[in-house]
Amino acid sequence: MTPVTAEPGRTAAGAGTRMTEIADGVLAYVQAGGGWCVNNAGLVTGGGRSVLVDTVATQARAQRLRTAVHGVTGRDPDVLVNTHHHGDHVFGNALFSPAATVVAHERTRVEMAQAGHGLRSLFPAVEWGDLPLELPLLTFADAVTVHAGDLPVHVRHLGPAHTTNDAVVWIPDRGVLFAGDVVMSGVTPYCLMGSVTGSLAVLAELRALGATTLVPGHGPVGGPELLDATERYLTRVLELARAGTAAGATALEVARGADLGEFACWVDAERIVGNLHRAYADLAAPYAPGAPLDVGASFREMVAFHGGPPVCHA
Ligand SMILES: [Zn+2]
Repeated sequence: MTPVTAEPGRTAAGAGTRMTEIADGVLAYVQAGGGWCVNNAGLVTGGGRSVLVDTVATQARAQRLRTAVHGVTGRDPDVLVNTHHHGDHVFGNALFSPAATVVAHERTRVEMAQAGHGLRSLFPAVEWGDLPLELPLLTFADAVTVHAGDLPVHVRHLGPAHTTNDAVVWIPDRGVLFAGDVVMSGVTPYCLMGSVTGSLAVLAELRALGATTLVPGHGPVGGPELLDATERYLTRVLELARAGTAAGATALEVARGADLGEFACWVDAERIVGNLHRAYADLAAPYAPGAPLDVGASFREMVAFHGGPPVCHA
């Protein structure tokens, strides 16, 4: 892998954050740390065209991402794909639009409009900047293909998984999959706004693509082993939820008594609380994956579990 930076010899976006070429014309922008609101992005180039996959949370971080993109292509991307509606992935849109056409699943546009900048209130200490919310210009229902020159870039909606509006970006000619937040790497998955059982089904679909390189929504780039680890974690969440349901225990009680084993060291372990709330809902009748839950109440329980507000380094 070849690190590509706007200023040779220096990182493009602060300590440990780099734009790295992971395949011919395909680059991963990985922000070190990977926790709350510290997400990854990507860039696909070919034939003088380029596609950016996601932006980042704050104005300062988005400006650094743009500098890194210009360091590779010398210009703004033609297309910007949002993998889902969460603010860390979309708040930087305005810095790239209208030069880039913002593309997303139709539900992403709806959820973005409803959520607005609400994420900022969960982490008031972050210097968010003042970028306006830029909704997707072009939406799709199931899938759309963008062409970086001769290189097809498949954007496909799956789920509910991490949210109701997840899309993955698959470049079959390079074996690279940008998984959005459906897959994380060394970082705890978070399915409160999607579905645990739906995520497990999506992981099976992603495995069938046969990607050799996976860019997760948060954490370091990896391979198919990221699918395996995510599957093990979510299977454990379901086991805990089934046991908790049988015992009449609340999600918070189950979380407090849970042995997270290999997952205890993953970043943002407190998400077990939200994941259990979603798993309880998935197991209840009628089955309604992605049906809205009380995000605020779940977040307050995560704070109680964690012994204070979750740590956000955005
Ligand atoms: Zn997300």
